[in-house]
Amino acid sequence: MNIRDENVLRELNLYPLWVRRDAPAAEALEPSAPVAETQAVCRLGGGEADTQQSAMGIVALNPSYVSSLDWNELKEKVHACTACKLRAGCTQTVFGVGDESAEWLFVGEGPGADEDAQGEPFVGQAGKLLDNMRAAIKLKRGNNVYIANIVKCRPPNNRTPEEDEIATCVPYLQQQIALIKPKLIVALGKTAATSLLGREATLGSLRGSVHDFHGTPLIVTYHPAYLLRSPAEKAKAWQDLCFAVQRMSE
Ligand code: SF4
Repeated sequence: MNIRDENVLRELNLYPLWVRRDAPAAEALEPSAPVAETQAVCRLGGGEADTQQSAMGIVALNPSYVSSLDWNELKEKVHACTACKLRAGCTQTVFGVGDESAEWLFVGEGPGADEDAQGEPFVGQAGKLLDNMRAAIKLKRGNNVYIANIVKCRPPNNRTPEEDEIATCVPYLQQQIALIKPKLIVALGKTAATSLLGREATLGSLRGSVHDFHGTPLIVTYHPAYLLRSPAEKAKAWQDLCFAVQRMSE
């Protein structure tokens, strides 16, 4: 083990007692039931206008329009987006970053203060930890990895994005996923997981299983910001990453 590996494992609170856990039970590798197509945040509708109006008069993005965009069109659309109230309180939209043909896609909740300032996801302390987590499984930012968030604008005071904000913004992420075609999605935290899966569940109940996002396997682990507040949970995050590596090698 070299010095860099030692440093990574120290960061994860797994050195010097690190022992890779046994392979997960076979049943844990079975995909969960398909996500219902009727879930609001995963719905793909029809029509060509870039926005649509609900019966309540709320104007929102038209998922069908977003699903027709290429990378450049999508980036421009997000950059200019004012479709929900989050845009009024942030500095800039934070689109996502990385290898646009990556096999690995990491999805977080939303930009924080550092991300809002720099326009890139996961660049603060949580981002440093995520970099170290990825380094522990030999993944580098930008190399076969793409990073994005559920919402592209920073929620005020880093609050959890609200349901309508997620429902409005998630078509952008869905189109990013459609363009990237990752082999595996790693949902970081409960908000990312439940928004993608379209159902409420505890993070604990979602860990350790392979879920399905419109045909793409999805696994769930802790958000790095939570791990910074609860470092004792880093060992569980390491279990999840080992599980992800095993899933990718199948
Ligand atoms: Fe648009 Fe998403 Fe920002 Fe809301 S959070 S304004 S939907 S980019």
